[in-house]
Amino acid sequence: MTQIDIARRPATAVATLPEVVVTPETPSLLSGTIGAERSAVLDADLHDLRERLEARLMVDVNSTRSGGGVAEMLHRVLRYARGAGIDARWFTIEGDSAFFALTKRLHHLLHGRDAAGPLLGPGTAAHYASISECNAQALLGTVRPGDLVTLHDPQVAGLAAPLRRAGVRVVWRCHIGSDVDNEYTALAWEFLRPFLDTADAYVFSRAQYVPQWLTGRPVAVIQPSIDPLSAKNRPLEPQAAAAIVSRIGLRARERTSAPALYRRADGSTGAVRRDPALLYSVSPPPPDAPLVVQISRWDPLKDMAGVMAAFAAAGQSLAPVHLALVGPDISEVSDDPEGSRVFGQCVDLWHRLPVRARSRIHLACLPLADAEENAVMVNALQRQAAVITQKSLAEGFGLTVTEAMWKGRPVVASAVGGIRDQIHHGVHGILLGDPTDPVAFAAQTAGLVDDPRRATSLGAGARRRVLEYFLDDRQLRQQAALYRSIAAL
Ligand code: UDP
Repeated sequence: MTQIDIARRPATAVATLPEVVVTPETPSLLSGTIGAERSAVLDADLHDLRERLEARLMVDVNSTRSGGGVAEMLHRVLRYARGAGIDARWFTIEGDSAFFALTKRLHHLLHGRDAAGPLLGPGTAAHYASISECNAQALLGTVRPGDLVTLHDPQVAGLAAPLRRAGVRVVWRCHIGSDVDNEYTALAWEFLRPFLDTADAYVFSRAQYVPQWLTGRPVAVIQPSIDPLSAKNRPLEPQAAAAIVSRIGLRARERTSAPALYRRADGSTGAVRRDPALLYSVSPPPPDAPLVVQISRWDPLKDMAGVMAAFAAAGQSLAPVHLALVGPDISEVSDDPEGSRVFGQCVDLWHRLPVRARSRIHLACLPLADAEENAVMVNALQRQAAVITQKSLAEGFGLTVTEAMWKGRPVVASAVGGIRDQIHHGVHGILLGDPTDPVAFAAQTAGLVDDPRRATSLGAGARRRVLEYFLDDRQLRQQAALYRSIAAL
């Protein structure tokens, strides 16, 4: 594919939203993983989209540049779009604490669960509308009529109407949802619908998440995906992974430990230097202890506390296994007001555990200051895990599951939301029918630790599944098809 100068629109003097700078990456780099045939189809689709967009921008807007699945995906997918010559940009919105408390409540409601937070009355709607309007006006310092903007999740849904009024093409993409409608989802849609009514198209991660009121409107189902070449997913030698996990403090150092080095995207050698922002651990797990790892935001729906309680209750049946609960630095995820509270609850529970259990359970918050270093820490932990768990109570898709599967790790995960699309029970991992059942969780996890052959076979199935369905070329092609249809409007 020919490279073109993608900065066709000069930087504007008008104040605009914070932009996340994305370095272009040529999509043909993926061919080494997906094969020449798949790569050629991707190139052709992106080329076609670029022709159709002409000088128009393709813009993504969300609420945070790091800490969560949407940010993770945008970083990678936009690199390839830019590498294909598309003028793709990424902006994040700004809001106050009342705004993010509201949008977090909407997040829970869309997952079909109630949560504390502001009442969804006219005052709250007016506040949401006014913050959204300010953000939209700031974005209109950059985007023009005909440009194509994708708004991600409830935090930015309120930008749809003002952008449409200005002649911008708008897609709203929702990464969360519930398989069954209930009073909570109804409440969320009642609030959001007036803000979203005029969007050109809607994208969901599962068909089951599409609300009734969108019947007859342009809706696409596009599942998230991962980039096999990102710092989070690219191959990492076992010695390097072990050294990085030791550096984080989640493995005792061996005399022969290698330095915690990795290859950075620019080809240079990086060293993991930062300590966890917070670490609760009596002492690091011994080098030979099997490690069970859950990596998640500190969100009640990820049930980190439930994982800890189930692990502790299993007692000696899980010895000599150690558990690492790992999440982002709570001070750095700007759109998630629940992080500190949920992490605090985990720390309280940890302190209250009998010392025997506590000495095999470790809590870590990873620093986000250097995105590549953070990603390589996650990569190393996932590769070093004997079992990866994702005991979520609800899950839009669950990229942490995809990432673990790509590394050929055996996964024990709840049969909820998008996890059900990724794992067929017993083929690509283990699904927990009841995520709140601690006994089943412990038994399945112990079963995999005790049966390395089964673990290896599930891991191999998992990797094949991701190669076939959940790499970025599939998502880029689906997006290109949707954007082509909208660009033609
Ligand atoms: N993640 C990370 N560092 C952390 C915790 C999570 O980079 O300390 C990443 C994780 O690897 C995954 C994303 O955040 O890429 C979480 O996405 P997922 O879809 O699993 O859940 P979400 O947070 O979007 O609900």
